Amino acid sequence: MTTTDYSMLIDGQRVGAESGDRMAAINPYTTEEFATFPDAGASDVNAAVTAARTAFEREWRTVPGVRRAELLNRLASLLEENADELGTLETRDNGKLLRETTSQVRFAARNYRFFAGYADKLGGRTVPLDSPDTFDYTIAEPIGVAALITAWNSPMQLLANKLAPAIAAGNCVVVKPSEHASVTTLELADLVTRAGFPPGVINIVTGGPQAGIALSEHPGLDRISFTGSVPTGSAIAQAAARNVIPTTLELGGKSPNIIFADADLDRAVAGAVAGIFAAGGQTCIAGSRLLVQRPVYEQVVEGVAERARAIRLGDPLLPETQLGPLANRPHYERIRAAVEAGISAGARPVTGVDSAAQDTSSAAGFFVPPTVFADVHNSSRLAREEIFGPVLSVIPFADDEEAVAIANDSDYGLASGIWTNDLTRAHVVAKRLVAGTVWVNTYRASAAQAPFGGTRKSGYGRERGEEALQEYLTTKNVLIDLSGTTPDPFSIRT
Ligand code: NAD
Repeated sequence: MTTTDYSMLIDGQRVGAESGDRMAAINPYTTEEFATFPDAGASDVNAAVTAARTAFEREWRTVPGVRRAELLNRLASLLEENADELGTLETRDNGKLLRETTSQVRFAARNYRFFAGYADKLGGRTVPLDSPDTFDYTIAEPIGVAALITAWNSPMQLLANKLAPAIAAGNCVVVKPSEHASVTTLELADLVTRAGFPPGVINIVTGGPQAGIALSEHPGLDRISFTGSVPTGSAIAQAAARNVIPTTLELGGKSPNIIFADADLDRAVAGAVAGIFAAGGQTCIAGSRLLVQRPVYEQVVEGVAERARAIRLGDPLLPETQLGPLANRPHYERIRAAVEAGISAGARPVTGVDSAAQDTSSAAGFFVPPTVFADVHNSSRLAREEIFGPVLSVIPFADDEEAVAIANDSDYGLASGIWTNDLTRAHVVAKRLVAGTVWVNTYRASAAQAPFGGTRKSGYGRERGEEALQEYLTTKNVLIDLSGTTPDPFSIRT
């Protein structure tokens, strides 16, 4: 089988790693290598950061917003034109369903357009001071050079969440995708060039943790935005602290999806299935803890299990497939271990558990079937640790008070869902949940306009929405003395 050899994008040039080292892209469905890409070292990362800094100082910081908007809109058009091809490639790289990867590319394009709309509207404000003989105003300025480090589960979408606001705000960037799914980001390099971005504004380096460490420790950065696991996020925040720069961290979750007895149960069960089995549970927002009110508990457990058993596993490129393979072998091994731990801890297996505990990784890819555990205790590992796979823990509760207590008893605070027909209950519970996102009578809905992010160990900072722009801007204050008088050097003027 032929493989494609990709290069990085540094200062407008397509280059390999200085060392010549390369990594392999593996299709998790066929388990075959289909591409290679550079394994960057510290010198490559340094070249990328230097190129970004040079481009920023040379021209980009003064490029008008209307031009940045034009370039972002062009990039969005190119993504739309190439959505099918990019979606197919991403499915080959991380095993997610083609319909999901293609719609994520379109969603990414929507993000670029949304932030393009802000690029020429970033004004400051005038600030009235106590003295009438002053004129004070603010300017919103780009912070400079940002490192954007992403995870493997949704490379195009996760990158758009960062790249669109960073560029709209006038920054230059160095992007590093995950070593488990780098090829669509390297394809994007072509689109960046075709859109007309000047060399050095967007640089893309690839590689594993060593490249990520070299990037996050680089003293030439002004901000790091990271999506990935909690331990890596913590290491990156420590590196950033040493260089006294801010970070945005989009980390994991163990999100509660709460079904009240008054809910429309058909919709709620479908929402519970979507929350955990769409994308094979390989999403940070997975509704991996299903909290169900006791009067409808058995009915919901059976409904979810029935739908889970009917999910069609197979080739993620085929339209009839509903669950593809897990993205890579180490991840697959981790999920099997988590299922086995659940069985040993005595959770009630409902479906998927027997086969999930067996090795189903052979030629047919890294498959774990939709797996449901009922009667899970919220203090158990199944309920506390992020599994990032198609494994659902169902937990019963008595009333609103207990639902909120269980939901909030977690190290994480990313997403949550409420299923109820009681309007007051929806608002009251939404207010009390510790989570960056609360969905009511839906789950996994996303919009370019709505801010997204976490609390607790799910991280901090916001992506998408107007809030995301603030992550990439800094405020300068200008105070002008209009009095024409000579001040007393030993007192403060206000
Ligand atoms: P990961 O932390 O292993 O890797 C993420 C990125 O960091 C990769 O590019 C990797 O090469 C790089 N990296 C690894 N070690 C590094 C280090 N020491 N210093 C700097 N960079 C380093 O995460 P993953 O396995 O790719 O992704 C899965 C995790 O991502 C899950 O926990 C999931 O919940 C989380 N995630 C969060 C969101 C969100 O928006 N909150 C979205 C998607 C995924």
